[in-house]
Amino acid sequence: MGVKIDPLKCNACMACELACGYHRDDAFALLSSCVVLYRAKDRKDYYGVMLKEEESLIIARPEGLEVNRIGAVDEGSSDKGDASAKPMLLREACDLCDDRDDGPLCQQMCPVGAIYQD
Ligand code: SF4
Ligand code: SF4
Repeated sequence: MGVKIDPLKCNACMACELACGYHRDDAFALLSSCVVLYRAKDRKDYYGVMLKEEESLIIARPEGLEVNRIGAVDEGSSDKGDASAKPMLLREACDLCDDRDDGPLCQQMCPVGAIYQD
């Protein structure tokens, strides 16, 4: 079980990224976040959300969900879109904000309900 992302609801506000960085570092440290906005470098107004989990890198794009097993991502198994995919592998995996009584902070901060749990 983990957080889920509906890329068709996402409006690219980056509140989840800020929230996760805050959860990690008690500061708005974007490089600490394990959920980040995904942008394709050659497509205007095209975005989705990437999530680093323990064993997978999830890329939620408008056309669908891509799940990359960590270890396979470096081997070019998919279009990584921009250079932000690789640093994701170095980040801590999502811990579902397990130290929070109120659950995932990214979910709480997303203004459009694009992050959820089922
Ligand atoms: S649930 Fe917590 S650790 Fe996981 S992506 Fe959201 S804010 Fe980050
Ligand atoms: S907080 Fe929600 S709307 Fe904003 S970038 Fe994250 S998923 Fe998208």
